[in-house]
Amino acid sequence: MRTASPTDLMERIVSLTKRRGFVYPGSDIYGGLAGTWDYGPLGALMKKNIKDEWWKDMVQLRDDMVGLDAAVMMNPKAWEASGHVDSFADPLIECKICHQRFRADKSDEIAAHEATHKGKKVAWTEPRQFNLLVEAYLGVIEGEKQKIFLRGEITNGVSVNFKNVVDSTRIKIPFGIAQIGKAFRNEITPSNFTFRSREFEQMETQFYIKPEKAEAKKWYEYWKQNRMEWYTSLGIKKINLRFYDHAPLERAHYAQDACDLEYHSPFGWAEFMGIHHRGDWDLRRHQEFSGRDLTYKDETTGESFLPWDIETSAGVDRSLLFFLIDAYQEDENRTVLKLHPKLAPYQAAVFPLLGNKPLLIEKAREIYHELKKDFMVAWDDRGNVGKRYYSQDEIGTPYCITVDFDTLEGAKRPKDTATVRDRDTMKQENVAVAELADWLKTKLR
Ligand SMILES: [Zn+2]
Repeated sequence: MRTASPTDLMERIVSLTKRRGFVYPGSDIYGGLAGTWDYGPLGALMKKNIKDEWWKDMVQLRDDMVGLDAAVMMNPKAWEASGHVDSFADPLIECKICHQRFRADKSDEIAAHEATHKGKKVAWTEPRQFNLLVEAYLGVIEGEKQKIFLRGEITNGVSVNFKNVVDSTRIKIPFGIAQIGKAFRNEITPSNFTFRSREFEQMETQFYIKPEKAEAKKWYEYWKQNRMEWYTSLGIKKINLRFYDHAPLERAHYAQDACDLEYHSPFGWAEFMGIHHRGDWDLRRHQEFSGRDLTYKDETTGESFLPWDIETSAGVDRSLLFFLIDAYQEDENRTVLKLHPKLAPYQAAVFPLLGNKPLLIEKAREIYHELKKDFMVAWDDRGNVGKRYYSQDEIGTPYCITVDFDTLEGAKRPKDTATVRDRDTMKQENVAVAELADWLKTKLR
């Protein structure tokens, strides 16, 4: 159960993630770099698990989706075409006392800042548009370097390859292109741990359909439900999820219809991911700016058209954060991350009952090395079994396998069995050593 106050809960999670190697502040030894985070050994594993599950669900199990991995650096014209050079901006205001800048649309952050000036009347500058694209310079000769942008969202790499994908595969509309990759935004106020960062990773699908209203409505609703089910299938409690529909003025410049799937986080309802009806905005603009024909030809009807795009856009970092928050539980005796076994950094841990008995260690090492061929497995022979359970619970390892004297000789149990302890129920069962890999595989399906 969640017993901590929201602020305490976030502090405990931030502290656990650093202490156990999930997430560190970026460039920590140099005092950090605002809005950047580094994933440690366990965070890197969990992040990979989230991306692998997403890719499996979106690409591997579907016949109507293909994958893509486009470059981070693109011809700057692509960002003019997509509208990001002109419209990808936040309204910015500056505190006239200390010159810190804030987003004019974040009233809670503004109020919190005013409070830091302890009763002084705070005056603000008029809002000014501030572009979020991060600039970089390419080339070797000073003065002749070309200004480019690090991508502010990963969609553009898909849009510019629409025609390449259609021409190089046999895929037909309706179909989607899935991509996972890093994006960069010069956020004015990075905040809430990894929630709003300047460097982050996205998982997106652009799903191309016939440009018809009924078709768009059908697929928009389909992707809303599909994504809701995916998050709940991986253990997010349904009560902590809701849809938030964007009013016309809140929508991004490219969107005809948009909604967020929101998570009930300790810092309020917050965007988990979005579903956007982008219409033909991207393809039309790229067609115009590149001068290339990007229409799709329907071979059965002979019609040519610019398809509409129903997008799903999720952040990997905030998914990881929300999976952690949702899984975090404390009781009198332990802290436990009840992560879905597919997402937990380690799927199992192997222990010899005692760390000073060579025969136990030898047998446990054998099992450990065998299971490592198929799973991420942790090894622990320190202290007593109770302490090792405590340590594995805290990082979400769902199954702890202990090799004891019965494994070697059999007495209370048949020989060549090990005990497997379940993280959530804390119950133990006996599993034959030869069947451990299959047993785990079944649990992880
Ligand atoms: Zn100030």
